[in-house]
Amino acid sequence: MSDQNLTCTDCSKQFTFTESEQEFYQSKGFSTPSRCPDCRAARKAARNSGSAFSGGSSYGSASSYGSGERQMYAVVCAQCGKNTEVPFSPRGDRPVYCSDCFRAQPGNSRSGGRSSDSRSGSGRRY
Ligand SMILES: [Zn+2]
Ligand SMILES: [Zn+2]
Repeated sequence: MSDQNLTCTDCSKQFTFTESEQEFYQSKGFSTPSRCPDCRAARKAARNSGSAFSGGSSYGSASSYGSGERQMYAVVCAQCGKNTEVPFSPRGDRPVYCSDCFRAQPGNSRSGGRSSDSRSGSGRRY
């Protein structure tokens, strides 16, 4: 076996199909490539990410988000209507409050409120 000079069907560039590559392809059962390594990588990247990066020979992954800072969600307070942010994804089944209103919610700290015996009555008559 020896190196082969092939022509890319995409960019018409000549590329070398080396001995070791031929062995690799044979061992995998692949047929002779019709595209140069550049075009193959580009097609592979496009298939993997869904959309090709424009003008990229930059190697590596572009997924460097999600470490450290917390995702905040913009919501409108159900109590006062103020725009605020909460560190969790708001669901539709619960009202979302700003921090002030959340603290002012009944039941969060003191549970009172059913003392309706405020009228000091001496008016019980039977
Ligand atoms: Zn090519
Ligand atoms: Zn509020």
